[in-house]
Amino acid sequence: MTVAVIGAGWAGLACAIDLAAAGERPLVLESARQPGGRARGVELNGQTLDNGQHLLIGAYTDTLDLMRRIGVDPKTVLRRHRLFVASPELRLALPALPPPLDVAAGLLLARGAGWGEKFRAVRAMKTLEAAGWSAPPQQTVAGWLAATGLAGSVLARRLYAPLCLAALNTPLEAASMAVFARVLGDSLGAGANAPGATDYLVAATDLSTLFPAPAATWVATHGGEVRTSARVRAIARQGQGWQIRLDDAAITADQVVLAVAPQHAAALLPDLPAAQEIRQQLATYRYEPIATVYLGLPADTGLSRPIVQIDGPSADDAPVWVFDRAPLGNPGVLACVISASGPWQTLSEAELAQRLLEKARPFLISKGVPSNSAPILAWQRRIVETRATFAATAGLPRPERITLAPGLHLAGDWTWAPWPATLEGAVRSGRRAARAVLANH
Ligand SMILES: Cc1cc2nc3c(=O)[nH]c(=O)nc-3n(C[C@H](O)[C@H](O)[C@H](O)COP(=O)(O)OP(=O)(O)OC[C@H]3O[C@@H](n4cnc5c(N)ncnc54)[C@H](O)[C@@H]3O)c2cc1C
Repeated sequence: MTVAVIGAGWAGLACAIDLAAAGERPLVLESARQPGGRARGVELNGQTLDNGQHLLIGAYTDTLDLMRRIGVDPKTVLRRHRLFVASPELRLALPALPPPLDVAAGLLLARGAGWGEKFRAVRAMKTLEAAGWSAPPQQTVAGWLAATGLAGSVLARRLYAPLCLAALNTPLEAASMAVFARVLGDSLGAGANAPGATDYLVAATDLSTLFPAPAATWVATHGGEVRTSARVRAIARQGQGWQIRLDDAAITADQVVLAVAPQHAAALLPDLPAAQEIRQQLATYRYEPIATVYLGLPADTGLSRPIVQIDGPSADDAPVWVFDRAPLGNPGVLACVISASGPWQTLSEAELAQRLLEKARPFLISKGVPSNSAPILAWQRRIVETRATFAATAGLPRPERITLAPGLHLAGDWTWAPWPATLEGAVRSGRRAARAVLANH
């Protein structure tokens, strides 16, 4: 059987690994010059950085599983930290208690939030848990915060809003509470069956080294192929199989997995009734940007915690997560992540960098002690992924089935409902597509 996987993002690569592991010889076609898609390493200023700073969490079980399978030891390439929030207003850490006690105790012991809001937050989590971590399809996260009496609270500003933006990359006023509830349920609410699900897993390498590069090598050494600079132009039915048209060639395959981002999927879907339905859904999708602003400071300067939260560059911008890149081999480099659209988009790169540096100052350390003098910014660089993720808005339609015709399957973060766009959603969707291919053998 010949199987073509279109797209070598984390979804396509996960699919190809499982296919190769099952004895198939998948051909992965990738338009870019390197695998990794929206999560890959980039060379900048003589250093290996990422197209966008990412954060994984302990609930990413399929990603961790596949890493182990291809010989990447998660313990070596990821640093595990229990969930904490270090921000100007709120300090929160999950104590080492069995779940769900850790979450309740973490909320109640948080410094900076009042008792009233702490109890409201514990009650809100209990209510969500009782509802099976679900919410009405049209409810927004802002609506949920208002309904729980948490709107305007420190916990809303410093815990729920940053978590929602990090996970859904969608402003709270539009973000789907059903999606956020599931994210909370699979992490904070995962309970004793999934210890460490809320832990932060911070990469100790660039993103390409973490998964895409070893994944592509593993596929190639197990009978498959990852062909880069191979843009697919069209997919069409041919007999019992499929024809895939590239710029300079046509390939036939018995089965095809389309594992591209939602903004690229519609144009590649063949003319089929089931594909028409997906095309109509995709026409309603909106996209949100993510900017990663790299600040180059003296090599002995870093953050007092591996990740901190600072105020956004403008008053109306959401909080920004800042990562110390020293453990990734980039000493003195801070990565500031700005999620979703906002006033920050009107600022120049230099202005943005200066404002972020100023806000990060209370968290800076130099040679291990708090830094008193103003740090010197040697360089800055802003990478904006303008369509980083689909907006996980309330009521957004998601594909109900991924096999559109015999031998034609979908994968990609957007197909893994109800999760928002995440690495783990991409990986799980790729593995599900591999199962669909094998079941159709
Ligand atoms: C800046 C940024 C920060 C993020 N932060 C996080 C985070 O902290 N945690 C988290 O879990 N997730 C995060 N995400 C989301 C995560 O990166 C994505 O959900 C995930 O990478 C999507 O993988 P995918 O394989 O579904 O799609 P993609 O990565 O988009 O892969 C699709 C691939 O298909 C290729 N392709 C497209 N068209 C064609 C064609 N015609 N022919 C051949 N190939 C084609 C593309 O080049 C691409 O390589 C972030 C995303 C961005 C952009």
